[in-house]
Amino acid sequence: MESLFAVERLSTPLEERDDMITVKGLNKWFGDLHVLKNVDLTVKQGEVVVILGPSGSGKSTFIRTLNALEEFQTGEIVVDGISLTNDLKNIEEIRMETGMVFQSFNLFPHMTILKNISLAPIWVRKWKKQRAEQIALELLERVGIPEQAHKFPGQLSGGQQQRVAIARALAMRPKIMLFDEPTSALDPEMVKEVLDVMKTLAESGMTMLVVTHEMGFARQVADRIVLFDYGEIIEEGPPEQIFDHPQHDRTKLFLSQIL
Ligand code: ADP
Ligand code: MG
Repeated sequence: MESLFAVERLSTPLEERDDMITVKGLNKWFGDLHVLKNVDLTVKQGEVVVILGPSGSGKSTFIRTLNALEEFQTGEIVVDGISLTNDLKNIEEIRMETGMVFQSFNLFPHMTILKNISLAPIWVRKWKKQRAEQIALELLERVGIPEQAHKFPGQLSGGQQQRVAIARALAMRPKIMLFDEPTSALDPEMVKEVLDVMKTLAESGMTMLVVTHEMGFARQVADRIVLFDYGEIIEEGPPEQIFDHPQHDRTKLFLSQIL
């Protein structure tokens, strides 16, 4: 069976793999507010990067900029070899390759779970309904809720809805998954079920960029942690380095407030 959780197994060491995302000298303003300041970041194929930082530091804006949900003014973004320009064709190609999961699940309330997942593959990928629904069912199996297929979003718990949102993003066969605080809106007892799905996805070799305040997940799953503050990357490194030996005073301050 083809792997539903993306990509080929990755046996090559991280540093020898291809770049999936390259950001160079990225600057963005909202009016007078300089919200992203000279951001440089490279993400390798299969790498899991967790973005940490205080509220308002530009984390959401940064990941929204990567798939053209926000415009940027200067700098360069390349996603899997596709340069993010104003060319609509490039924007569409990049959006086809990136799945995004938000804090709010954004499911279509009047559609069944199965329909929520199979809609885009049918319309955008032009898959036959039967194939799209078959894959939707397999994805529901992978996120642990196959029995919910014929229900409506309002009948599911928050944790289940967020798992559907992940399955829906995966149905488009993205090469990259972007998560923006996927567990922040959940009741505490539902956080783990969503993080577990994300962990399995990471282990399958998916390239992931995750904004989260879940420090356990960050420490356990991230290859690298990136710290944003006032629109800048102030520090980055492997989890052990960031958590146990932070260099920057602002990193220490942030961690002391959150841990
Ligand atoms: P974070 O996700 O780290 O909390 P955001 O990227 O949401 O930060 O926001 C960064 C800054 O940009 C904040 O000061 C926020 O108020 C501002 N901002 C975000 N979106 C907009 C917008 N659409 N228009 C104007 N300012 C915005
Ligand atoms: Mg945010």
